[in-house]
Amino acid sequence: MPPPLALLDRRRLLLGSAGAGLLGLGGCATAGMGAAPAGPPAILAQRRPPIWPVRAAMDRVFDLTVCLRPFRAQGPRIEAQEIGETLVVHNYGHGGSGWSLSWGSGTVALRKAMVRSPKEIAVVGCGALGLTSAILAQEAGAKVTIYARDLLPDARSARATGSWTPDSRIALTGAATPAFGELWEEMARISFKRYRRYLGLPGTPVEWRDRYVLRDDRPPAGPPAANPQGLEFADYSERIADITPRDEPMPPGSTPFPVARVRKGSQLQFNVTDYAHTLMADFLAGGGRVERREFHELSELAALPQKVVINCPGYGARALCRDESIVPVRGQIAWLIPQPEVDYSLYYRRVGMVSRRDGIVVQALWGGDMMGYGDDHEVTDRKEAEQAVAVLADLFGRMA
Ligand SMILES: Cc1cc2nc3c(=O)[nH]c(=O)nc-3n(C[C@H](O)[C@H](O)[C@H](O)COP(=O)(O)OP(=O)(O)OC[C@H]3O[C@@H](n4cnc5c(N)ncnc54)[C@H](O)[C@@H]3O)c2cc1C
Repeated sequence: MPPPLALLDRRRLLLGSAGAGLLGLGGCATAGMGAAPAGPPAILAQRRPPIWPVRAAMDRVFDLTVCLRPFRAQGPRIEAQEIGETLVVHNYGHGGSGWSLSWGSGTVALRKAMVRSPKEIAVVGCGALGLTSAILAQEAGAKVTIYARDLLPDARSARATGSWTPDSRIALTGAATPAFGELWEEMARISFKRYRRYLGLPGTPVEWRDRYVLRDDRPPAGPPAANPQGLEFADYSERIADITPRDEPMPPGSTPFPVARVRKGSQLQFNVTDYAHTLMADFLAGGGRVERREFHELSELAALPQKVVINCPGYGARALCRDESIVPVRGQIAWLIPQPEVDYSLYYRRVGMVSRRDGIVVQALWGGDMMGYGDDHEVTDRKEAEQAVAVLADLFGRMA
């Protein structure tokens, strides 16, 4: 006996909404529905989750921040050095990947520190690398003291975009050895796995979000790339392709974005304010101590009571370790008032937008990733912010 009409309609409805979930926004194929008419059935179109526009305007920018990525052409320095009787393990120079690689890099640094089986460990620095190294050292059973000039809300790490970008400005092609590629992969995999622990927590320190890359025939915004030396950042993304969600082209008309081509993917995102707070609380709850202190010479580390030190001064290593291999890569963020309904990030005409719980991050990338290379000008540039916000204002102004 054929099923009653009401049951058939209900099945169709369920299949329709399941299809929408599987295909992402505006998926217009009709998997499981047999011979379907061309175009999305009305029920799918209606049930498509909305994409809310960003209210992009300079009067909604509540902060401008700028910071320097601590970049090294050969990759970060994770290396042990004896200074007097003290074992100093350096863990700095992570370019645009410091948050992403922190757990993996900290694990590698800690291995080198544990050769002395220390009961107490000092960590210099309280940014992404310092805090994660300190927590890992606690987990290994050590009593840990962090010594730092600035704590995280004031350290440079607090001014990061907050995305999973493990090979962003991490090394230069040609300068990094093949062995570094292997080490990078190990660090990226360790970090990626560790981030699982912070998903689904109150405050949402870490979460997965949709990410759209939009393209049309309009020219990239801002001045052209300035890269006279023809430098190229190393790209290791293929090494972790198996743990990286693929993006997919969206069918024309299936999103409200007024551009010809849209790709949609998923990105792990760090809501840095909450995430940093969570890390600090974990460190203190684990019995950690923090002492505000500035060091001027590496030799001062040998005077600390702890005889094993993990050194994570970030860009500060240029002065503290007299390490001129550290190159600044300047980056600026304009912070728009948060909009919880905007639950995605996007990239359009060389402007990046990441909607975080603590603000909407807007970043100009004129000339691509090389923007700011070698620039240690750590002051804000309002014009740069105005241009970036204008690109988004134009985009969302044209959105139906
Ligand atoms: C605009 C921008 C966006 C970014 N976006 C991302 C992103 O989305 N994802 C990502 O993974 N990475 C991103 N990064 C990169 C990331 O922010 C850095 O790699 C990371 O912050 C480096 O962390 P750190 O702990 O080494 O350094 P810092 O955060 O600078 O911390 C250094 C610590 O050492 C202390 N210190 C330094 N010198 C001394 C001294 N002499 N004595 C005592 N204490 C000292 C400081 O006070 C501080 O506590 C971004 C960077 C920028 C600029």
